[in-house]
Amino acid sequence: MADVDDFFRLKEYDSLGREAQGLAEKMEEGLRRLKRLEDELLARRTQLTERTAARGQLKHQIAELERRLAQRLSPEVMDQLENQGLELLSALGELESLIADDNTFITGFTQTIQSIQQEVTEENQRLTQARSNLLERAQLLRPQLPDGWAETHAKIAQKKPAHGVFTRLTGLTCQFCRYSVSKVFESEVDTQFQLKSCASCGRLFLPYKAVAG
Ligand SMILES: [Zn+2]
Repeated sequence: MADVDDFFRLKEYDSLGREAQGLAEKMEEGLRRLKRLEDELLARRTQLTERTAARGQLKHQIAELERRLAQRLSPEVMDQLENQGLELLSALGELESLIADDNTFITGFTQTIQSIQQEVTEENQRLTQARSNLLERAQLLRPQLPDGWAETHAKIAQKKPAHGVFTRLTGLTCQFCRYSVSKVFESEVDTQFQLKSCASCGRLFLPYKAVAG
């Protein structure tokens, strides 16, 4: 028959699992952060490619204009073309400056990403090790639990219920969801130390003696 210590072991087993899960989420967060930065870099590279293509077109238009200006033209046409030429040159100047900004950003940002990549890799190696230590401890604890407890725990744990997998009885109701239970049920939980789950919210009842610890 199970006793209160089995519940303390189950609580520890649960907390090791949750801690390991927390580390896995932290690792994913690091990778997501890196992905966001890489996406930002990619977007800036795409912008640079587009601006470089636009610059090529502008240069082509300017060359075309210069070719026409070299011909004999009426003063009006000459004026018109020169004004166009000035506009194109000014647009080209703006574009050159934007392209220079893109290049500066890309160079700096590439270095930033490289250093963050290294940071994330090192951090994730550390987290992987810490997580595998936790899981190993949980694995060692598992055979010390009464038969079927780890499976019962897994069923509710995989749903990741808010505020954890445990509840308790207050009077004859589940403290969490207020579902009512019988006197017999209460005695099975609190005096016979059976592992029982709430028929409504699915959480596992801790006997009151195991709640304090
Ligand atoms: Zn409940």
